[in-house]
Amino acid sequence: MLIHSDKTQNALADAFAGVDLWIFDLDNTLYPYPPGLWAQIDGRMGSFISDLLSVDRIEARRVQKDYFLRYGLTVRGLMKHHGVKGRDFLDYVHDVDLSDIAPNPPLGEAIATLPGRKVIHTNSDRLHVDRVLARLGIEPAVFAAIHDIETTGFEPKPAPRAYDAVAKIEGGAPHRAAMFEDSARNLLEPHKRGMRTVLLPTQCDIASAGKEGAHIHFATNDLTGFLRSITDTMA
Ligand SMILES: [Mg+2]
Repeated sequence: MLIHSDKTQNALADAFAGVDLWIFDLDNTLYPYPPGLWAQIDGRMGSFISDLLSVDRIEARRVQKDYFLRYGLTVRGLMKHHGVKGRDFLDYVHDVDLSDIAPNPPLGEAIATLPGRKVIHTNSDRLHVDRVLARLGIEPAVFAAIHDIETTGFEPKPAPRAYDAVAKIEGGAPHRAAMFEDSARNLLEPHKRGMRTVLLPTQCDIASAGKEGAHIHFATNDLTGFLRSITDTMA
């Protein structure tokens, strides 16, 4: 795993030459999760399930964890077993205060400057993407497409079918694509398919698991700087 530095300019030039599809995860990749945001979302998942099933919060949490482990996404269990409309659940849990997300227009400019298509592929939903981009001060039009959990038929990364759904829409050769993620396991499949992979390391143990693997080609804590370096090598 390479941590980005000036010494890796040649490695960057080699790795990203010819790449014309840039795929970005959203949460913890385009911005660091502010402290307390996950607790807000987690709390709203709990209250939704506890209202839906008329159970206390402890039982709601057990159900949530069970569905998350079984289906990779809590919402899929709720859809499958309780007829919940996915969008209703996601709109509810993402109705949180995002004011702690710091604006970052330079990141939007660095993304816009990359050659080719720039897209988002997130396990989250479109409304949340729009709200986060608004907070970041990044125009949604920077991205040619936003692939959310509905695009992938509620198949979350790292399931191969999630990447299949995006690949079907985007087309193109995988070796001309690069993927940026905070979750190391979500980069296994892109690596297998021949994409370039870039990890945004976080403090989260689940996201970091496997970060030393050969499927992580680059890692950086400074996405804007990293993208600028790539653009510079192409100039
Ligand atoms: Mg993420």
